[in-house]
Amino acid sequence: AKKAGPGTVCFFEQADDRLSRDRKALQSDLEGAIARNELFLVFQPFLDLGTNRITGLEALLRWQHPSRGLVPPSEFIPIAEETGLIHEIGEWVIRRACASVAEWPEDIRVAVNFSAAQFHNTGILQTIVQALADAKIAPHRLEIEITESMLLSKYGSAATVLNALLELGVTVALDDFGTGFSSLTNLRKLPFSRIKIDQSFIRDMLVQPDCAALVKSVIGLARDLRIGVVAEGVETADQLECLRQISCDEVQGYLISRPVSANGVLALLDTRKYR
Ligand code: C2E
Ligand code: CA
Ligand code: CA
Ligand code: CA
Repeated sequence: AKKAGPGTVCFFEQADDRLSRDRKALQSDLEGAIARNELFLVFQPFLDLGTNRITGLEALLRWQHPSRGLVPPSEFIPIAEETGLIHEIGEWVIRRACASVAEWPEDIRVAVNFSAAQFHNTGILQTIVQALADAKIAPHRLEIEITESMLLSKYGSAATVLNALLELGVTVALDDFGTGFSSLTNLRKLPFSRIKIDQSFIRDMLVQPDCAALVKSVIGLARDLRIGVVAEGVETADQLECLRQISCDEVQGYLISRPVSANGVLALLDTRKYR
């Protein structure tokens, strides 16, 4: 490799410093974000293609920063994970999501995203039990979304945590399906209620025949295993029609609805369109 001159090194170091200073600032802001009421949840619905009804909503975290405006989760979740703040934030999300679902009709579930560190923290079970009790909701109305990388992580046996969650009556969905390794093996071995096919496959489905074939075979396998399938990131009517034809159970995406505020959920459920 070519050796960089002193000037170049200096430039990169400065850029690097600026980046880490920015990150540190964001990090210290994030520490007080819950107390300052800057975090909130938005909710994106799942539509059942068989009944044309909304069956639940996924909670997606937002941070309204006092000077930066809305910071996307892709920017602050990694910071929360690195600093350990994710435990406190994750607990807040679970409690808020449970309190929200308590206000919705009883056949509607809420799905919550988990980070690896949360998933492998045994204290999480007690947190969930308490949140369910405080919100007075049945455990099956809460779904936890985890990704495949969490199954391969260094922490320990994913099966133990999964089974403990299922014993509580909480369901577990495998998020971003198809983007990790050994997807099909995971499906056979672990007790998922549902898989969510990653939006990259849905996006390419009508452009690349391979993708459509893959989505179709995943749906077939899931049906054999009695696991539900959600297609993520549905943006066009053509995608929806294709998913209908290959008997996908549920869809989620901008075509159905963008994420809506907590106040917007009941209005969404009330609109005749999907109920
Ligand atoms: P995810 O769980 O895969 O969530 C789906 C993301 O795709 C969301 O982005 C959603 O707004 C977006 N999306 C939904 N429909 C469409 C569509 O039709 N087209 C396109 N292009 N995008 C669509 P968002 O809200 O920015 O969240 C990004 C990621 O941040 C999530 O990916 C999840 O991994 C993470 N995240 C969000 N909330 C939480 C949370 O409470 N805890 C944790 N640990 N992670 C979270
Ligand atoms: Ca998710
Ligand atoms: Ca996803
Ligand atoms: Ca994702």
